[in-house]
Amino acid sequence: MENLRAAGTDVVRVVYPDLLGADRGRDVLLTQLPSACTHGLTFCRAVYHTTPRGDVVPVAGGLDAGLPDICVQPDLATVKPLPWEPGVAWCLGDSVDPLTEGPVPESPRALLKRVLAHADDYAAHHHGAAGRGPLAAVVGPELEYFLCDSSPTTPSGWTPYGAATGNVYSAGRRGDPDGHLLRTLRQLEALGIGVIAGNHEFDGGQFEINLDHSGALDAADRAFFFKAAVKETARHEGRLATFMAKPFNGLGGSGFHVHLSLVDGEGRNIFDDPEAENGLSAAARHAIGGVLRHAPALAALLNPTVNSYKRFGPDTLAPWLIDWGLDNRSAMVRVPPERGAGTRLELRLGDASANPYLLVAGTVAAVLLGLRDRPDPPAPLEGYGYDESSAPRLPATLPEALDALEADGALTCLLGEDFTGAFLTYKRNEVERYQQSVTDWEFGEYAFLI
Ligand code: GLU
Ligand code: MG
Ligand code: MG
Repeated sequence: MENLRAAGTDVVRVVYPDLLGADRGRDVLLTQLPSACTHGLTFCRAVYHTTPRGDVVPVAGGLDAGLPDICVQPDLATVKPLPWEPGVAWCLGDSVDPLTEGPVPESPRALLKRVLAHADDYAAHHHGAAGRGPLAAVVGPELEYFLCDSSPTTPSGWTPYGAATGNVYSAGRRGDPDGHLLRTLRQLEALGIGVIAGNHEFDGGQFEINLDHSGALDAADRAFFFKAAVKETARHEGRLATFMAKPFNGLGGSGFHVHLSLVDGEGRNIFDDPEAENGLSAAARHAIGGVLRHAPALAALLNPTVNSYKRFGPDTLAPWLIDWGLDNRSAMVRVPPERGAGTRLELRLGDASANPYLLVAGTVAAVLLGLRDRPDPPAPLEGYGYDESSAPRLPATLPEALDALEADGALTCLLGEDFTGAFLTYKRNEVERYQQSVTDWEFGEYAFLI
């Protein structure tokens, strides 16, 4: 408190990820923070299931219960003064249902904590992963996004920034005429997000930023703050930063790749085995097998919008088939070439629109189920692989993925039926609204001819 006052902070913005992973919050005067910490800060429970346009989706325990309170305990360890909004600091909190005094089941952060708490039980089933102390997931997020300028001539009102000359790895001002990337990297550093590097991506206005690896909850917290920070700093410049999976026809999509390994209580990477084929331990093989087996259901969490499925496709560097490969960017799971402590999987399934908490929770859950059930993966993909006869296809639409999630008993049991029920209700509402909406494509296709 005193440190905050001395740093010139007079307002604390207590923020939460909703089911989409968007930041929602309340601004609290610093003078009121001690009371908020003692009694908890109240929010309407619908904070987790309000659509981007502000409508409340009828998830059980929300509208039907008269929109009751949840109680939020600000976590002062997460306070970060905002470099672009002097006097304001961000803070995360965990929400408690006052009736049960337990975590709110649809809270994405509570979900991730729940999955991580199961790591040891599941690992205990795996002879190579048990007995050396608690198992921890190490996660390195990489996110892509498009930065857009407003445009009076496009139907959406936005067009990719610097599009005329920017393409993959174009350094400096060529694809970034006024230094957006440098400014963003410095602001993220000032926020303590833990960034490794950033670069221009394949398409004009598209950037990628890689975050340091760390424990799963910390990595998800940083990815959540990262997305909110990039969007907010763009707004300060009158621009739009979008993490939509596929914002533009004819341009590539934006991925949210995660690098993942598991370390035992002695800090040893359990995916590494120099004696085994490809240097990958049985735990690594089974982790890959788990991710492949649960991929259709995982898509619901990692590709959570109706737009997400427009990113998949052959020749996109986004996945299309449920496969894996050794340092192969056309596969859904890539095993990067490092071994030893750096042995890890890169899951390329997720797109940038994914809620970081749900993406990490789902990925870790599929890996844990792999350790428990020990599915052996097929042979790794050789060469550039978008040949439909070589592997099963990912779900083609959000409704297919939601059905796959509902049908995946092992995964929904680990995620919790309460969470899955709330998520499916929310997402099916989104699908229904999408299906009832008339698009520009339909008008262009039919209106003039028919
Ligand atoms: N944009 C691609 C995706 O949607 C990834 C490109 C890359 O490998 O960086 O996943
Ligand atoms: Mg990239
Ligand atoms: Mg990557």
